[in-house]
Amino acid sequence: MNTSKDNCISEFITYMDDTPIKDQCFIIRSMKFLKHKQQRLLILRHSYVCAYCNTICPITPHCHLMKQLWKHMNHCVNNECSIPHCISSRMVLMHFKRCTMRSCLICRPVRYMIRQKNCTRNKQVVGMLGIKGHTFNAFGSE
Ligand SMILES: [Zn+2]
Ligand SMILES: [Zn+2]
Ligand SMILES: [Zn+2]
Repeated sequence: MNTSKDNCISEFITYMDDTPIKDQCFIIRSMKFLKHKQQRLLILRHSYVCAYCNTICPITPHCHLMKQLWKHMNHCVNNECSIPHCISSRMVLMHFKRCTMRSCLICRPVRYMIRQKNCTRNKQVVGMLGIKGHTFNAFGSE
């Protein structure tokens, strides 16, 4: 009886090894990649409009770093820049600026957020922060 059970398991494993599962792995991997980009965009957007200038931001501990990154990115044009997150963030922002796909999974949460909080307040906050660079004013200035 035990052997048949084992066979069953090994059959199942063989089935798991089949192509559809590999496809699934690919999907899961790209989902993780997507999630990463999505989160980067969200945190960039948050720090862009965040009013906690000199105090510790209660929303995310990365906020302060992201604000520094914004200041850096506003004048950085180096395609081999070694500042952490500079290139990857610029990439994702560039995508956000150019992306016209309404259902894009990377942009959707941020677009949703922008629609939720209307831009009128954000403009003031952005002005206060003094980081309204012309390069990346993609957020909240429609
Ligand atoms: Zn913040
Ligand atoms: Zn840079
Ligand atoms: Zn997009």
